[in-house]
Formats: sequence, structure tokens, C-alpha cells
Amino acid sequence: MTHVNPYYVNLKDSFLFYETKMQATAFEAAHPERRLLRLGIGDVTLPLAPVVIEALHRAVEEQAHWETFQGYMPELGKEFMKEAAAANYARRGVRIDPEEVFVCYGIGDDLGSIGGLFDRENRVGVVEPAYPAYVDTNIMAGREIIPISGTEENGFLPLPYPGLEAELVYLCSPNNPTGAAYSKAQLQKWVDWANEQGAVLIFDAAYEAFITDPEVPHSIYELPGAKNCAIELFSLSKSAGFTGTRLGYTVVPKALIREGKSLQAMWVRNRSTCTNGVSYLLQRAGEAALTEEGLRQSRASLGVYRKNAEILTSALDSRGIRYFGGQNAPYIWLRCPGQMDSWTFFSYLMEKAGVVGTPGVGFGACGEGWFRFSCFSTPEDTAEAAKRLLEVL
Ligand code: PLP
Repeated sequence: MTHVNPYYVNLKDSFLFYETKMQATAFEAAHPERRLLRLGIGDVTLPLAPVVIEALHRAVEEQAHWETFQGYMPELGKEFMKEAAAANYARRGVRIDPEEVFVCYGIGDDLGSIGGLFDRENRVGVVEPAYPAYVDTNIMAGREIIPISGTEENGFLPLPYPGLEAELVYLCSPNNPTGAAYSKAQLQKWVDWANEQGAVLIFDAAYEAFITDPEVPHSIYELPGAKNCAIELFSLSKSAGFTGTRLGYTVVPKALIREGKSLQAMWVRNRSTCTNGVSYLLQRAGEAALTEEGLRQSRASLGVYRKNAEILTSALDSRGIRYFGGQNAPYIWLRCPGQMDSWTFFSYLMEKAGVVGTPGVGFGACGEGWFRFSCFSTPEDTAEAAKRLLEVL
């Protein structure tokens, strides 16, 4: 008899976004006359930048001719894409060697596999509320999860505390779902803690492009000592509209050594065994997105999402509802009104206003009583959602 992974029984029955989608779909089937406005899932709505589209067309054309045709890609990424990533860091004054960059199809893929570098016995600290995959991928691997709770009191930016026992810690800043972002001084505390403990930080930088506050670091490597303790995950999904196109990269610094082993060398070994590289077309698209012109063109879309955030936060302001985020991040994290719990407010909002958000408790127990709006919808739907919110709140 084959033995299945015994840890799956420890997972919740369904993934958060699957559950909210099923409920919204069931509501629509029962009420075909109602149009739901979806501010739940963090999926972009604006098209790719013109330079990215041009790069994709050029790459497709190259694949049509034997002189330019590309077969298997290097498992760790094409040199031009690794250099584009290193240049992106150089813009922030951070020196990353292209050999420390591993090109991937997006953070989701590497979140699932990066755990392969670490023993099952490591305890995993997760700064919550958190993107659910940090917890679920580690539960699947049989690791113990130590929730590190964000609260209204700590501004949803918990810091290391005496007695925190974890060998791996997941951090996301700017945070999904709260929109809260660590300042340089706060993040330095995590870096110093990890170096003192010999722990490793997994830093998710998916939303760095939304940062406007100069005190908020875009990369953990802006902080002294981070290369000795942190792996950084980066994605073009939200910064350049690649959710359906797919491209990202993971940085594993050469200075990251644990038990005498180079994690960078281990990741080279892992990737060269477990992947056959990322599509040439997508790497050309990613390279174009990270040029000055690509970044400039994507900023126009980011401006639209920022405006959506302003529309929603001014509706909340006018009803005196407490919220975080919406500043350095495309998410707004609001207190459910009238002491409602997260799922009750989810149903209330869907039924009364036809607006779908995400219940905060789905991001960790400390998210109970909170709710997330995504600012990635179209400006029209966001304006309509704000109008409906004002009617029911
Ligand atoms: N990390 C965070 C915090 C996210 O919010 C998401 C997607 O919403 C991801 C990672 C997944 O990103 P990708 O599209 O690169 O797989």
C-alpha cells in the first residue's frame, strides 16, 4: 500500500481564495439579476506595458527561425534576465550578483519548493495575518507553525520578541493582506534577530513597487546583514501585471551559510534537478519590464490602482471605519463594522451591497474581525463599490 503524505490532514479543507470564489459563484447563480463587484482576489486588471508586448512579439518571432530559435533554457535563468534583476537592485543601491538570482515562474512556484532547503524539524514563524501559502506549504512539509501575530496595537507589524523560537521566519512587506509596511529600522530588528539566532528569513517583496514612503525599504538587502540571513522572493505579477503571464525571481545570497552549507549552492542543486528553466518568451518579457522604460510604463498602471485605493479609503473615512494599508500597498485592511466577525461581514457585504472582499480570519487567527479589499479592480467597479459601501455601512 502506498503511504500518502500524512500532513495534509492538518490543512484547512480549502484554500481561502477558492472558498470565497465558490461562495461568490453560488451567490451569482442564485441571484442572476445582481452584478457582484469583486474586490477580493489580488488579481490585476490592466494590460501589460507596450514594451513588454513588443518584447513578447519579438521573442515569438525568434522562435520561428532556426538561426534564433531557443530550446531548453538554463535551469537558473537566462543571463540577460538575471542581469536585469541585478540591475533592478542596483537602482536601489543594492549589489546582487546575477549568480544569486534564480529566475522562476513567480513567487507561488518557489514558495512551494524553497522549503526543500530546510529540515522538517525547523519551526516556522509566520508574521500574520499572512498570505496563506506560507503556512500551507510548511504544513504540507510537516513543519510546526509559530504564528507571530500582527494586531491593531502593533500596527500589524510585529517585531521579534524575547523567547521567539523559530528557525525560519516568513515576512511580507508591504504586507498582503494588511498593507502595513516595515520601516528600515523595524526590518533591521528582524535581520539582527535572525543573525543572532542563526535563523533564516524568507522575505516576500511581491508588493515593493507600491511603496511611496522613503522610510520603507523595497528590498531586505537594503539593510546591513541581510545577505547573511535572508532569501528574497520577487514577482512581476503585481508590479508589472504578470499574474497571467508569470515571471519572478528568488535571490539566495552567497553569504547565506547555515551548518557550513551554502544555501545558494544547495538551491543551484535543487533547481538544476527540479526545473527545466523558465520560458524564453517570458524571460524576454521580464527583461523588458525591468528596463527604465518598462518600469515607467508600469507605473501608469500602479497609479490607477493607487487611485482606486484613495476612492475606497475616502469612503471608509467618511464612515469613520478604522483601516490600515492603501498607502504603500494595493490592499486595504478594515475593521468589520458592528463587531461582526470576518465571515459574517463577507456575507453581509455580498448580500447587501454585492461587493466581494476577503475575510481577514482567512489570513490567520489574528485577522478575525478584519476584512481585506483589493485595489486591483477597474476604476469603474471600484467607484461603484465605494458608492455601494456608503449605502450599507
Ligand atoms: N506573495 C504574496 C504576498 C502574494 O500576495 C501573492 C499573490 O497574490 C504571491 C506571493 C504569489 O505571487 P506570484 O503571482 O508571483 O506567484
